[in-house]
Amino acid sequence: MPKTQLNVTLLSHTPDPVTAIALAGRLCYSGSGILSLREDVRGRAPQFVEKLLSLGHLSPFEHASFTFGVEGVSRALLAQITRHRIASFSVQSQRYVKQEGGNYVVPPSVAALGDAAVARFQEQMDTAWGFYQEWLAAGLPAEDARFVLPNAAETRMVFTMNARELMHFFSLRCCNRAQWEIRRLAWCMLGLVRREAPELFASAGPACVAGACSEGRMSCGKQAAVRARSDALAACAKEGADDAELLAWALAEINNDN
Ligand SMILES: Cc1cc2nc3c(=O)[nH]c(=O)nc-3n(C[C@H](O)[C@H](O)[C@H](O)COP(=O)(O)OP(=O)(O)OC[C@H]3O[C@@H](n4cnc5c(N)ncnc54)[C@H](O)[C@@H]3O)c2cc1C
Repeated sequence: MPKTQLNVTLLSHTPDPVTAIALAGRLCYSGSGILSLREDVRGRAPQFVEKLLSLGHLSPFEHASFTFGVEGVSRALLAQITRHRIASFSVQSQRYVKQEGGNYVVPPSVAALGDAAVARFQEQMDTAWGFYQEWLAAGLPAEDARFVLPNAAETRMVFTMNARELMHFFSLRCCNRAQWEIRRLAWCMLGLVRREAPELFASAGPACVAGACSEGRMSCGKQAAVRARSDALAACAKEGADDAELLAWALAEINNDN
């Protein structure tokens, strides 16, 4: 049974998201008509967006959406990401898609224990899929046979978040307190959207990137390292790193132990 690994693609986003947000925000404070406002914001959209961010006027950020394609993630990740209720999800069905060639995710903590540990993990996965095949062969529908599959089983999804929800998602899931797999995904997504719309996401990330840690007694105490990580990602995004380069950065950078 094959191991798999995270793959993330920014499939699409609102055209010119910075201008869309600036126009919506400007409308709130202006007596002008919408078409003349559109001319007004042209070229000055980044300044308007910065102003909105400084005021905490975040509802205009809901007018720009970003759609991601994600594969090579576990059902454990699925349970976490779908808690974000403002996002829209389409997830590969375990009812309609038989998991016969099933892939699984190996946690970095297992890989760090060495080849023997990875081989043992693989045996356990093979056993689980063996049970799955047994139930399919006995005539169970896939929707019931899947009950024996592990949390490590791969899933694929397409999801859309607006810029406001993305900022909220990054604040929770780029934080060192978040579990490694969703944290790795979140940092990769942050790189992708920073590349496309740096004006919107320059200070996005866990609270400690732009200010004080929000985690109180649970703080990881690694604010300087997290800021350095954010700066490194911003530099990659600014240089126009492609999706594969941003993914490679996230895979190398984010593990269980940071
Ligand atoms: C480190 C970490 C550990 C966690 N551990 C657990 C755990 O042990 N058990 C567990 O069950 N979950 C856990 N979670 C998940 C967490 O409780 C949230 O469900 C998840 O992070 C989604 O956050 P959210 O509700 O703010 O986001 P979203 O659903 O994306 O919502 C965004 C914001 O919209 C507003 N909003 C959305 N829906 C409503 C509503 N119905 N009413 C009012 N306001 C709303 C809120 O302001 C919310 O913050 C954990 C999350 C993290 C980051």
